Amino acid sequence: MLSVVLPAYNEERMVAKAAAEVGRVLAGAGINYELVFVNDGSKDGTWEEIEKTARHDPHVTALCFSRNFGKEAAMLAGLAGASGDCCAVMDCDLQHPPETLVEMYRLWEQGYEVIEGVKRSRGKESIMHRASAGLFYRIISKAAKVDMSRASDFKLLDRRAVDALLAMPERNTFFRALSSWIGFRTASVEFDVRERTEGESSWSTWSLVQYAVKNIVSFSTVPMQCVTVAGFFVLLLAVVIGLQSLVKYFSGRAVEGFTTVILLLLIIGSVIMISLGIIGYYIAKIYEEVKGRPRYLISRRIDRSNREEAGAADQLPRQG
Ligand code: UDP
Ligand code: MG
Repeated sequence: MLSVVLPAYNEERMVAKAAAEVGRVLAGAGINYELVFVNDGSKDGTWEEIEKTARHDPHVTALCFSRNFGKEAAMLAGLAGASGDCCAVMDCDLQHPPETLVEMYRLWEQGYEVIEGVKRSRGKESIMHRASAGLFYRIISKAAKVDMSRASDFKLLDRRAVDALLAMPERNTFFRALSSWIGFRTASVEFDVRERTEGESSWSTWSLVQYAVKNIVSFSTVPMQCVTVAGFFVLLLAVVIGLQSLVKYFSGRAVEGFTTVILLLLIIGSVIMISLGIIGYYIAKIYEEVKGRPRYLISRRIDRSNREEAGAADQLPRQG
């Protein structure tokens, strides 16, 4: 069975539409499915809509948050509540085309475990938005060691991958990057971001900036190391300017006492920056330890208990 997780925040006009359209496409393709709607503390009638849909449609499971916890939390809650052999996550504003779900499902049947939806085009965006998104993805791609410039939250994960994700002990998750970080047999499917038909994007510019900073910090410690690097640059500068002021001092062209001030300022400045960087480095290590991410993940195991069935299971295409 395929579980489709749909986080919803103030989407009262989209819920029924999304349920109907995704259901139609999946049923049309002969896929056994369930829809898991997660109401992320919406301020409008989203929950009532979800309830109504769930009452009429046996395929629908509904979860409701006590308040708005954000899309990341909603996706994880949906995955935790899903019971399928594979789970997909998609926006419930139908910007992620349901037809792509079928394509992803076929890849899953071929044995892929993480199928990423990759944006062919980013839809309509302002130049500012495009540029800052570009910068954000460059940093995060470096940190996660995968190209994320066209990544989206539209993904289909095998049960193994879902369980691995749910077992992550960290609080600050970034689904898009984590689902690459966990590894597994990965494939990707391109899709075109559709226009939003109802309602509006719940992301303001400021919330996007906050989102970017939060995720960079939760995925990489590079910003901390910048201090050390800056410290070394200042030290280099200190040596050059220091030499220059010493030359001036000895050639008698310097203002009385000024050389000492310049030297002290430069040396103390760079030493402080470098020490901050070193402290930052230790904090980075502590941070990584506190996050308690597993050191590795095992995607499958063959041992005494399952040698026969494992061999057989790999021959057969998996059933949904
Ligand atoms: N969403 C959510 N919680 C939030 C914000 C958004 O669950 O706090 C959901 C929203 O209902 C939608 C998806 O996340 O299904 C994507 O949101 P949106 O369309 O606003 O973002 P965009 O498509 O502009 O990136
Ligand atoms: Mg959207």
